[in-house]
Amino acid sequence: MRLASLLLATSLFAAPSLAQRTAPAATPVDARAAALRDKALGDDTAYGIVEGITTEVGPRMDGTEAEGRARTWAVARLKALGFRNVHVEPFQLPVWIRGTESASVVAPYPQALRLVGLGNSGATPPGGLTLPIVYFASFNDLQLAPAGSLAGKIAFVSNAMQPTQDGSSYGSQGSARFVGPSVAATKGAAAILIRSIGTDHGRGPHAGVTNFAAGVAPIPAAALSVADAENLERMVKLGKPVIVHLVLDDHPVGSRESGNVIAEVPGRDPGAGVVLIGGHLDSWDLGTGAIDDASGIAITAAAARLVMEAGRPRRTIRVVWFGDEETGGYGGLAYAKAHADERHALAAESDFGADRVWRFNTNLPAGAGAVADRLAVLLAPLGVVRGSETAGDGTDVEPTLARGVPAIDLNQSGLRYFDWHHTPEDTLDRIDPDQIRQNVAAWATMLAVVANAPEELGTVVPKSGH
Ligand SMILES: [Zn+2]
Repeated sequence: MRLASLLLATSLFAAPSLAQRTAPAATPVDARAAALRDKALGDDTAYGIVEGITTEVGPRMDGTEAEGRARTWAVARLKALGFRNVHVEPFQLPVWIRGTESASVVAPYPQALRLVGLGNSGATPPGGLTLPIVYFASFNDLQLAPAGSLAGKIAFVSNAMQPTQDGSSYGSQGSARFVGPSVAATKGAAAILIRSIGTDHGRGPHAGVTNFAAGVAPIPAAALSVADAENLERMVKLGKPVIVHLVLDDHPVGSRESGNVIAEVPGRDPGAGVVLIGGHLDSWDLGTGAIDDASGIAITAAAARLVMEAGRPRRTIRVVWFGDEETGGYGGLAYAKAHADERHALAAESDFGADRVWRFNTNLPAGAGAVADRLAVLLAPLGVVRGSETAGDGTDVEPTLARGVPAIDLNQSGLRYFDWHHTPEDTLDRIDPDQIRQNVAAWATMLAVVANAPEELGTVVPKSGH
């Protein structure tokens, strides 16, 4: 996942007042959906998809040959699972590739540093840069630096990211990566190092994209592992100037092909609108993209398959394994453009790992509130609470939601996610088989309710920011 979906995350709602603590209205329990939910708790299809793609394809950066192999793998697996209308919708996107990357402290305490270049980073000159660093404890401190004050320097920006269940610390601390390099460039910096946007203390750096504002020439930009950033911070605090040598041989390589992989469970009522679900097929290159986002494509496909096996739903369920989420969300934009004339009843995305779903939020039209009531009753046995925020998460579905398509978010716990997000540790063994089954059960329940709902699901006002 990247920035957009979490920037707008807000704090948890306040405890209800006494007046609000009345019993909820009695809601009939959909026995078929409940049976599907319970069956899903014993279904290992999702784990098998994550195992398959991480083993047989591995990392799959946007616009690369590896992402192409992932699409071929995806088509074969989705057909084997019994989906209909399985096909690829290609699109073009600008691609950036990583070359040689290294850094070391030259003085006063010489030693190597572990880092990774940020997507869209500029390159250092041949032979690299050797310059003093200027330390900022936070992105805010970087913003306060006077214009021109970083000329001939490497900015070093730390942050204090802590795990949060709703993932909101990614939005608040992530600015150091999302826009820190652009801000440092405008103040004259020759390069920027940030502390990885992560909640671990390991030596695996966290990759991720950065964006330079229009008219700002990209400077070399990299993320130090959290352990290396903490070490560098201690050196700074000893008071002597710290000189760093930095080599980043990273470059844009022009326009290349990516694609969205599409599969369907055909519905009985073509006029009732499509239920769009999915995750993204691409990943960063350090790990094998298990939690980001093989788990999302796996959870949504496994849930749709369970609904398909239970009998033809009212609405068509469309599973999309989006290309390029990580560097610009081009897959979601291409999908929204290609399917602009089609009626969508709902869009929902899974892109936050595979830990248990703890909450759901909705953005349903007036007249469809009973859909959420039925969902609340069916999800409660899975430990999922009903939230009070407006749904609409997911970079890939955001351009579709922006047209007023209703949304449901099934929020996963973010307490471990940013220990491994975009790192070499994003591998199959981070997936807890019990928790990914709970995810499939929540998604299968949601699909069974929404795809079969007799209510009309018309347009809504999108969550602000879309
Ligand atoms: Zn993702």
